[in-house]
Amino acid sequence: MKFPHWILPCALVLTALFFSSSGSAQPDFLLHATTAAPATADPAIAQALRVIQPADIEKTIQSLVGFGTRNTLSSMETDLPPGQGITAAADWIAAQFEEISKTCGGCLEVHRDTFTEPSSDRIPQPTTITNVYAIMRGSDPAQARRMVLVTGHYDSRVTNVLDAKTPAPGANDDASGVAVSLECARALTRLHLPATVVFVAVAGEEQGLNGSSHLAKLAHSEGWQLEAVLNNDIVGGNTTPGDTLQLKDRVRVFSEGVPTSATPEQARRIRALGEENDSPSRQLARAIADTSRTYFPSAAGAPFSAFLVGRPDRYLRGGDHTSFNREGFAAVRFTEWREDFNHQHQNIVLPPSGSSDPILGDLIQFVDFNYVANVARLNAATLATLASSPGQPVKVAMVTKKLDNGSTLQWEAPAGAASNVHYELLWRETTAPDWQFVQTVPSPAADGPITVTVPISKDNVVFGVRAVDGAGHRGLVVVP
Ligand SMILES: [Zn+2]
Repeated sequence: MKFPHWILPCALVLTALFFSSSGSAQPDFLLHATTAAPATADPAIAQALRVIQPADIEKTIQSLVGFGTRNTLSSMETDLPPGQGITAAADWIAAQFEEISKTCGGCLEVHRDTFTEPSSDRIPQPTTITNVYAIMRGSDPAQARRMVLVTGHYDSRVTNVLDAKTPAPGANDDASGVAVSLECARALTRLHLPATVVFVAVAGEEQGLNGSSHLAKLAHSEGWQLEAVLNNDIVGGNTTPGDTLQLKDRVRVFSEGVPTSATPEQARRIRALGEENDSPSRQLARAIADTSRTYFPSAAGAPFSAFLVGRPDRYLRGGDHTSFNREGFAAVRFTEWREDFNHQHQNIVLPPSGSSDPILGDLIQFVDFNYVANVARLNAATLATLASSPGQPVKVAMVTKKLDNGSTLQWEAPAGAASNVHYELLWRETTAPDWQFVQTVPSPAADGPITVTVPISKDNVVFGVRAVDGAGHRGLVVVP
């Protein structure tokens, strides 16, 4: 029997009638399109976010500043006063995770991963580096292999990156990011999330991303199914008196375009299809923006948003997300709107009173704990949403057997997906920064590939697919 091309046996076929009765010239992708809108907030996640309080963030940053220096090289110093230096800071962070774990019946596995980094430009002798992290295993055995991760770096520096003794408070860079990891743990341990969440503080960032590189390679070699890495670095909302250009209602989210890990063949395909703006990291950044619209609705009077930046990092700068990108993981960087470089990577200099010279040094007095709390809430909401979602559809493909003006997409369910999963087909104009339109795809009646055909030309838009559970938790979008 010969079927017309759009009838696909054993598959779901959507053939909405997309004909304009008036014959008016509307682009096909606008006809009967539903505008993409924020999800409804999950009350349990919203409740957990209330646990995150500026006072706890202040205590964390105050404690980390109290270690004098957290320069990575200070792990090799033998004459530091007791309670000073990066090793004492690692002990303290591990103790915080243990304390949080007590509140959830031991739900965190706290790890101290200590290794020796060989000598390099910024490491004059083989140096002991410790990553501290806590794993909250997923509550659903079918989902627990999936992981999401939040990280900040607890090492700090002064003007000379090799100086392991001079006080290096690193309040913004990056005690603020460590505070985000700890607050995410404090909040999310109140929830039973189906997938696994990892809360991280790495060292060696200032010496060359050593801690994150070690952890990302470990994750790769152990086959961690990491779907999202959120790196928080300089999220203190720097408050310099007189700076009128700082913005406290948004955080920048940087993401790579063409994946660092793409093979030449993959890069060729990305160029051929114009998918330079659709890496997994870019989809993660869009998911963060989506989450901000759900949990910080502007109608609530306290808007806080993700300002997406389509580049891997700021000019002349790098960060720990890059280590994860190199290992093929989706990873992004959160950073405050406007940095004050007098308060980063500087020896402390307090000018005499009456002087117009700026104060130098990464001091806690310039950190805005309310701002860090909002960044932490956005991180926690994103982690909770992704860990509650069904994960990502697999083998997402555009079926292109012949030239035609419609589009047929095919994919398979995420591994271990529950029966209440449905899908959303999203699309946007190729020049649009974020998803514009959505069409719900009902759950298939039987196992096997899911196929959808729409009378929209794939040449003019970008399509993506995401999986959504019965409660509305959205997974990351996958483009064919
Ligand atoms: Zn940093």
